Amino acid sequence: MNRNEEVVIGVDIGTTSTKAVVFGEHGRVLSSHAVDYPIVQPHSSWAEQDPDVIFSAVVESVSTAIVKANVTSKQVKAIGFSAAMHSLIALDASGHPLTRCIIWADNRSVVQAERLLNELGGLDIYKRTGTPIHPMSPLPKLLWFKEKMPELLDKAYKFVSIKEYVLYRLYGQYVVDYSIASATGLFRLDTLDWDADVLRLLGITRAQLSNLVPTTHILRGMKKEWAERMALAPDVPVVVGASDGVLANIGVGAVLPGEAAITIGTSGAVRTISSVQKTDEKGRTFCYALTPHHWVVGGPTNNGGILLRWLRDEFGGQEREVAKKLGIDPYDLLTKYAERVPAGAEGLLFLPFLSGERAPYWNANARGTFFGISLHHKREHFIRAVMEGVCMSVFSVALAIRDVTGPLSEIRVSGGFAKSPFWRQMLADMMGKELLVPETHEASALGAAALALYALGEIPSLDTVKAWIRISSHHIPNEANTFIYSELFDMYLRLYERLKGEFDIIASFQRKYS
Ligand code: ADP
Repeated sequence: MNRNEEVVIGVDIGTTSTKAVVFGEHGRVLSSHAVDYPIVQPHSSWAEQDPDVIFSAVVESVSTAIVKANVTSKQVKAIGFSAAMHSLIALDASGHPLTRCIIWADNRSVVQAERLLNELGGLDIYKRTGTPIHPMSPLPKLLWFKEKMPELLDKAYKFVSIKEYVLYRLYGQYVVDYSIASATGLFRLDTLDWDADVLRLLGITRAQLSNLVPTTHILRGMKKEWAERMALAPDVPVVVGASDGVLANIGVGAVLPGEAAITIGTSGAVRTISSVQKTDEKGRTFCYALTPHHWVVGGPTNNGGILLRWLRDEFGGQEREVAKKLGIDPYDLLTKYAERVPAGAEGLLFLPFLSGERAPYWNANARGTFFGISLHHKREHFIRAVMEGVCMSVFSVALAIRDVTGPLSEIRVSGGFAKSPFWRQMLADMMGKELLVPETHEASALGAAALALYALGEIPSLDTVKAWIRISSHHIPNEANTFIYSELFDMYLRLYERLKGEFDIIASFQRKYS
């Protein structure tokens, strides 16, 4: 490491781990360190984490990444923060947690979300706030508190997200960036302020929320104890940053209006950049803040790579054994089998809603369905149909986004699914669009670091990041397959509409008898 090179650190507080990445010039990764933590499930639909464990993970990941990069405090030009959206912690007046950190995966407020939508003007709230009405976000969770633990609403001095908690511990200040705020369901996109009607509905005051700041807001004067623990200068500029989703767009180079990023890991998301706020008449897409000129419009899907994992784990014993013998990844074997079958899996169609669905349907009762099964279908047909089902669900999200923002000009893909060239090509064929595969691994951390540099005036615009990212491959759609998929996709859409009522019935049957 060059002892004069200045570095910037991106810290990404994620759901399973916090990762700190030390970047040199042009986004070059010098070191990184991740610290994992568990999700606690005191009840089956709950999902919580210990905020102090996450705070310790932030401190440890930053200090270890700095040691690994072998840089001095003087070389650290700035730190930028990224964090998972939708987390909620109640704090007392001395800043101690009254609850654990309730995360996006917590579904305790299903009933409250339904009531918001059906009785409390949820669609209008969504149009003002950009956050779809869903148990993932703090709005229905706070309504749950109001109904189930009203004393907590009065007792809580502040309601904060995990990033606010970490920054409070480092600086003793309660600040929340517009980006994290815009994913709470409590924040108006047009005024960049808390929504007075929503606060009234919840029975909380603005004093119980943090001070709103732009994502480029700079904090200095870190508490000595923590600066020393991380070997940082207390006056190192720390840029509050944004949410992991919107920063991931920057980190893969999908920065200009119309450019889109598709990530398919365990779950998936499609996001594009818009220069103005945009919400959907039908409530299908989110709109989250990044900068005054960058709004991220997109949709999350529950059913991404988790479906191939489900196939591997539940039905792929044979493949797992063969793969072990050959010393290859079982996913590679599964996808090899799928390649033997033509597009459309010879008449086998799969609706992939094994975990219910968020965008575009926002239907927790949706379920998986194999349709068209015949005796000629073998395991490879089922594998291919599952992979195609994931692509169709992602495509349907992209179409909803297109309705809201206009055509998507360039699409960049990432996540575990992107390890498979075959699956990437399938998505290109499904969408009838060229896909680019950027060479980045820590997209949210890179986005956070780039935003920090932008905040300090070190780079003229976020577009600069594009030049830092190499494209490792392109996928041009195969026209013949695109033709087949357009018919398959029509069937998919129709089948969902026809089965919608049946999904409610089987979901309630499932609840009754399990
Ligand atoms: P895991 O499911 O084992 O936690 P990862 O986190 O690496 O795997 O990847 C997330 C998802 O990406 C997986 O569930 C799988 O669907 C997909 N994936 C990962 N590796 C491959 C691969 N080599 N081929 C196809 N899909 C893959």
